Amino acid sequence: MTVGGRYDVVVVGLGAFGSQALWRLARRGLRVAGVEQFGLAHALGSSHGATRLFRLACLEHPELPALATASRRLWRELEAATGTDLLQQTGGIMIGPPEGRAVAGTVRAADRHALAVTTLSPAEVSERFPQHAGLAPHWGGVWDPDAGILRPEAAVRAAVEAAGASGATVFDGVRVRAIDPDGSGAVVRTATGALRADRVVVSTGAWLTALVPGVVAEPVRVPLLWFAARSDPAGFTLDRFGVFIRHYDEERTIWGHGATLGEPAKVGLSPDPRHQPRVDPDHLDRSVDAATDWAHLSAVLGSALPGLDPVPARAAPCMITNSADGQFLAGPVPGRPEVLLAGACSGHGFKHAPGVGEIVARAVTGEPQEVETGYLDPARFGGDRPGGRSLAGADQLVVGRTAQRPGRS
Ligand SMILES: Cc1cc2nc3c(=O)[nH]c(=O)nc-3n(C[C@H](O)[C@H](O)[C@H](O)COP(=O)(O)OP(=O)(O)OC[C@H]3O[C@@H](n4cnc5c(N)ncnc54)[C@H](O)[C@@H]3O)c2cc1C
Repeated sequence: MTVGGRYDVVVVGLGAFGSQALWRLARRGLRVAGVEQFGLAHALGSSHGATRLFRLACLEHPELPALATASRRLWRELEAATGTDLLQQTGGIMIGPPEGRAVAGTVRAADRHALAVTTLSPAEVSERFPQHAGLAPHWGGVWDPDAGILRPEAAVRAAVEAAGASGATVFDGVRVRAIDPDGSGAVVRTATGALRADRVVVSTGAWLTALVPGVVAEPVRVPLLWFAARSDPAGFTLDRFGVFIRHYDEERTIWGHGATLGEPAKVGLSPDPRHQPRVDPDHLDRSVDAATDWAHLSAVLGSALPGLDPVPARAAPCMITNSADGQFLAGPVPGRPEVLLAGACSGHGFKHAPGVGEIVARAVTGEPQEVETGYLDPARFGGDRPGGRSLAGADQLVVGRTAQRPGRS
């Protein structure tokens, strides 16, 4: 297909955020095109690996439960539009000290947004979730009945399909090289042609900085890991070993869920914010290695989840793209109103992708937003740098990273 044409909006990058933005824009009857550098639902970015956790009582920001609620409505709408199962709400348990983030943060989020969660005593946690060992005697839990899992590859395909049904044009296998201002809009340049658009949504994930100079969004490598049960596979299926987030230390949690979709249990340790080298997504090390990818988690599993074989059955590299404060960048770029961002997932973005797509679509059309968006506005850091002061290599890196809570699920 020849790359060319005039559009109301061009969406660059059709992963989690971009595919949803394309759908929400196309649903409004706008003339839209989406451009993806690889094939749809590929495994080279941030949206592969069969599952992502879903929660309503999100603890990463007080406003996120409203975004998750809006997203759930849109996930269900997308399922109905495409006849696809995308979101399976199994319920989930958050485990840890009563004052820790996993438990107290979930309770706070639920209280603020009137979400029904149930607090469990230490004895109730041990009785209902016997797979979890090594819990401190005072650790309790919060049961979130709305938690569950999403299917990322199916979701990307479904959103692009739904966008196509509403008239969107899709160019895959085409890399955007530049977005040049052009009067009131922009020219989106590729090796094989150019597209003219009034607005451009840049949703390029780990590649966000390549097309929008000055944006602060740092990709880091994080592995996806699956672990087989040692001797009781039935104890680690999704219905018996559902979604969980478990306190590890002040900064980090262990997260995961039971076997499903032909894969064994998935478990991760959120990355240590103090030791995350920024990576170049075009030169990511895609091999997996025990020392780098799972040695630490394997040692933890021996005492925390002893029913799992601590050597992973499967491992795959993935990337998280961190903003300066751990929240997404969704909305116009300061000083470049023709360009909007939808990115900086900060490790917890998949569940919110339709809500972020909707925010961007409303920003394009000027419709009022249905949820609070100030904490996602690329201009929230002030100054002229979308997404805040550059973190790379600066002393402030430590400060900025300590303040944020990346790598949640
Ligand atoms: C290990 C791990 C576990 C996670 N767990 C969870 C979880 O449980 N729950 C949750 O909600 N979130 C989770 N996340 C976060 C979630 O996966 C991300 O928020 C989400 O996938 C990010 O989507 P994105 O659209 O920003 O990036 P992507 O999905 O990677 O999309 C960006 C797209 O842009 C394309 N692109 C880039 N540059 C160009 C260009 N120049 N031209 C054309 N196309 C381009 C890329 O090829 C890619 O397809 C996890 C992330 C990781 C790494």
